[in-house]
Amino acid sequence: MSIKAAVVLGTRPEAIKLAPVILAMQRDQVFSCRLIATGQHREMLDEVLRLFDLHPDYDLHVMRPDQSLFDVTSRVLLGLQPILEREAPQVVLVQGDTTSAFAGALAAFYLRIPVAHVEAGLRTADKYRPFPEEINRRMISLLADWHFAPTEWAQNNLLREGISSERVFVTGNTIVDALFEILQRPSPPLPEPIARLTGRERLVLVTAHRRENWGEPLRRICRALRALVDAFQDVVILFAVHLHPRVQRVVHEELEGIPRIFLLGPVPYEVFVHILARSVLILTDSGGIQEEACSLGKPALVLREVTERPEGVEAGILHLVGTKSEHIVAEASRLLRNVQADQRTAWRPSPYGDGHAAERILRILRERL
Ligand code: UDP
Repeated sequence: MSIKAAVVLGTRPEAIKLAPVILAMQRDQVFSCRLIATGQHREMLDEVLRLFDLHPDYDLHVMRPDQSLFDVTSRVLLGLQPILEREAPQVVLVQGDTTSAFAGALAAFYLRIPVAHVEAGLRTADKYRPFPEEINRRMISLLADWHFAPTEWAQNNLLREGISSERVFVTGNTIVDALFEILQRPSPPLPEPIARLTGRERLVLVTAHRRENWGEPLRRICRALRALVDAFQDVVILFAVHLHPRVQRVVHEELEGIPRIFLLGPVPYEVFVHILARSVLILTDSGGIQEEACSLGKPALVLREVTERPEGVEAGILHLVGTKSEHIVAEASRLLRNVQADQRTAWRPSPYGDGHAAERILRILRERL
């Protein structure tokens, strides 16, 4: 007898982190899987779906210019109702903490369909950081029936909140499965500024897109980058700029035309992981990139005041620096004084998993359903 599952996803990181689970379900004889894309982010989501050869059975196309959280939540909820009623899956899988994931879990709950939460239990204990993700994931924890925690720390957060230990499982993070799979593929051509490097420069990779960093914090981050290229003549910075207009505008205003700072749009994932592997230092406010940095053993400055990934900080790979220019410059300079241009990248044990999280999740679901 087959198990009918529906997977709801809407953004690039959800697609990256759910691809290993969906692909494993497609290989498995027991599961039949319906993929529902909300389209919360359009281009960045589609790029990842193509990379992993995933074809949504349904697409809600919710994205609008300047969409608000009200728009996304209500459109996803209303869009899912007829699909979940028609398909009547035995379980709905959601991942992480996006508004699509929250609305997906809520829609399933309204229809009394069990919810499985992939990457459960991350917490900052600060309602507004990250916003709205901290509350999205807490609400998903209330709605979920099975909680797949990436680490023991995340598991303990859930147990402390009163969730039964029989429903919480430590599986590792599926991002490690995805990263491992893509790194095994041959490297595609790298973008022009990287391809032209001679090998003597040290590459620093930057991303910043969190809502809490829009405006002045992002300007301070940009100022720190200018100071770093001034201080280190062999440093080249590649900033993969998120498509959100509030991010694009500030970054281009602050950094356009600065020598040795290259501004690209979002980089396709299969290229991005090879750039990560070439970098000596990463500056980011992204969640997934913190986990990838740990798996590649790359030092990373976390451009946030709090992180829900303390395991990487404890491992000495992540450095929580906030967004004050002087703190970023001081910590980046300290790290840059110690890293060589030809630093080798090797796959290394990561607090976030061993690349087999998806298999564990399916095994548990198979047993429980
Ligand atoms: N990523 C990518 N191209 C980019 C920037 C990020 O493919 O230009 C990948 C990155 O490797 C990670 C994921 O996107 O796997 C993280 O997404 P994002 O930073 O948007 O979200 P978060 O992880 O903060 O939820």
